[in-house]
Amino acid sequence: MPRRTPHVLIAGGGIGGLTAALALLHRGFDVDVYEQASELKEVGAGVQLSANGNRALHELGVLDALRTLACETAGKEIRLWNSGQTWKLFDLGAVSVERYGFPYLTVYRPDLLDVLAQAVRRQKRGAIHLGSRCVGFAQDGGRVTLKLENGEETTGEALIGADGVHSRIRQALFGPDRPKFTGVMAWRGTVPMSRLPAHMARMVATNWVGAGSHVVHYPLHRGELMNFVGVVERDDWRVESWTARGSADECAADFDGWHDDVHCLIRNAPSLFKWALLGRDPMDRWTVGNVSLLGDACHPTLPFLAQGAVMAIEDGYILARCFDRTGGEPASALARYENARRERTRRMVIGSNENTARFHNPKLAEPAGAQEYVDSEWSEERIRNRYEWLFTYDVTKVEI
Ligand SMILES: Cc1cc2nc3c(=O)[nH]c(=O)nc-3n(C[C@H](O)[C@H](O)[C@H](O)COP(=O)(O)OP(=O)(O)OC[C@H]3O[C@@H](n4cnc5c(N)ncnc54)[C@H](O)[C@@H]3O)c2cc1C
Repeated sequence: MPRRTPHVLIAGGGIGGLTAALALLHRGFDVDVYEQASELKEVGAGVQLSANGNRALHELGVLDALRTLACETAGKEIRLWNSGQTWKLFDLGAVSVERYGFPYLTVYRPDLLDVLAQAVRRQKRGAIHLGSRCVGFAQDGGRVTLKLENGEETTGEALIGADGVHSRIRQALFGPDRPKFTGVMAWRGTVPMSRLPAHMARMVATNWVGAGSHVVHYPLHRGELMNFVGVVERDDWRVESWTARGSADECAADFDGWHDDVHCLIRNAPSLFKWALLGRDPMDRWTVGNVSLLGDACHPTLPFLAQGAVMAIEDGYILARCFDRTGGEPASALARYENARRERTRRMVIGSNENTARFHNPKLAEPAGAQEYVDSEWSEERIRNRYEWLFTYDVTKVEI
């Protein structure tokens, strides 16, 4: 059969939607992205990108540009909530490149979006339509019509819902979802590195662990910012949003008794945001005919493996390979894509859920119990079991 180049519509211009657009354009398919925001400017927050995601970004020609803006952390360490006792978790930096071929980067989200959007626009200048909120679609005989909130409609041969955790396209396909509140919420902020003492302003990623709470921080944006995420068991906050604000006093109260290094981050964060963590079971399917989903729209996850955005990047790359493989036949490409991604993303969602209990274990309350617990849970072998299958995945070679 001759190769077709169908027109693919993408709802959502986040990390997953833009990666998918770039990957499809690279392979000669026509794409338009409809993003609700009026500018591609995420609220300041960081994201860790492991080698498996960076391999895809390299193949798409954007890794070098991203590397100049990101941080290549030397390693990861664990610290105990009250004493600050430190354990080395694993080396990253050169070790990631040596072992997996690509670096482990910590990235300021607006930098990542900017690099992806510029690359998409170089391939097709007008591909990204901002201020375009998608509200539904209709599909009929191989054509898909995407409906926008302003009443406009646009037609293509495939639609990808990359519109995040509250996906309208997922709702249109499968009805409202029923998330379960996990009893956990995350504080987020970015702290200017210049406000931190020298012993904290380092190029390492740190996981503070305690009974019922944990804190993650890592450098961003050429080392000018420190990303702060503080996760607490609290059941009075149920809003799942990037933009809901909280106060430093409220955050400090949630980490009462924690080491002053943690409070130093809280005191110096210009603003702090609250995100309730809602759990969703992995979906068994997310494709219907010429419409499919990608990223958080189909495998929303708790952030405790730091792989949600990386999976969205992998999705985008594999999606484009599937269009290529099927000669541009949308329904076969989408079915193949879903098959290629189902088990891996399911395992990631389950692994993230399991990390909640691991990071918050009651044994972490006291130094003696903590030592034993860290030695067993973060032993080299256990770390390898938890992460190796993620980092070694090769988007360019896996069977599709
Ligand atoms: C606290 C926290 C820390 C995290 N840390 C990491 C990490 O270190 N590493 C990692 O890999 N992942 C991490 N994640 C997960 C990661 O943020 C998500 O998995 C990732 O953003 C998913 O990308 P996406 O493109 O699918 O969705 P999103 O990033 O949510 O993008 C969706 C896009 O669609 C747009 N949109 C939504 N609705 C509509 C509509 N109706 N019409 C048009 N556009 C629409 C939105 O404006 C947005 O631009 C973290 C998440 C949280 C909450």
